[in-house]
Amino acid sequence: MHVLILGGTTEARVLAGLLAPSTKVTSSLAGRVAAPRLPAGEVRIGGFGGPAGLAAWIREHAVDAVIDATHPFAERISFNAAEAAATAHVPLLALRRPGWVPVEGDDWHEAGSLEEAATALHGLGDRVFLTTGRMGLAAFADCSQWFLVRSVDAPEAPMPARTEVLLDRGPFTLAGERELLARHRIDVLVTKDSGATATAPKLQAARKAGIPVVLVRRPPVPAGVPVVTTPEEAAAWAVTGGRR
Ligand code: NAP
Repeated sequence: MHVLILGGTTEARVLAGLLAPSTKVTSSLAGRVAAPRLPAGEVRIGGFGGPAGLAAWIREHAVDAVIDATHPFAERISFNAAEAAATAHVPLLALRRPGWVPVEGDDWHEAGSLEEAATALHGLGDRVFLTTGRMGLAAFADCSQWFLVRSVDAPEAPMPARTEVLLDRGPFTLAGERELLARHRIDVLVTKDSGATATAPKLQAARKAGIPVVLVRRPPVPAGVPVVTTPEEAAAWAVTGGRR
């Protein structure tokens, strides 16, 4: 039994840890982060060369099941995985942490894309805390607001003219996020609906400070791919050879 995990998330790392003691498992990382936290089992790094390259890798390495445990916003690799799994005739499961749900006191403005998020900012605030990751900053490049951009690795241009970069990696605390919002006099937060507990304190901090949030909605999981929400469910699926 050889399970390929398409990773790059905390959940993917937990899943590899669950499977590695009893199953041959290879985790695949895109190679975007300079010093990634490595999962248990074997690890390969870098793109496959599209769906055809991924299907070839699956065949060459006798993969029996694929788990797409990539970030909810890593849209292309998820579609590549669906196509490759169909071509190579291996079962595919998507592991997606649940999205965030607003509670009383939240002032959320949903956007369908980063570009829509940039437009939604008009009238919401002048000092923006942007936590959508270092890729995609071009969508905000023409914005006149001041931006605090937090990312794991340094972002590259194009980005808004008035930008301060904060290099940091979660988990973050509520106290830390509240202090950050106050210190930078943030009046609007932009985030993707990543749904992770490690980064949720920023939403609580925004609620407590009465700050509006522009929330970028998730792209859909490819049609026909079954979805689970926890590493434990994904591990149970894998040990049955993806037959459940
Ligand atoms: P993407 O746009 O969906 O994928 C772009 C290309 O990167 C894919 O076509 C593939 O290249 C390669 N790739 C992506 N994930 C890969 C993986 N796990 N293993 C091998 N190749 C991979 O991906 P992305 O949004 O740039 O995200 C890249 C990685 O960062 C993912 O592993 C994801 O889990 C992680 N991540 C993404 C975000 C986010 O907000 N998007 C946030 C946190 C972590 P080929 O076509 O050459 O195979």
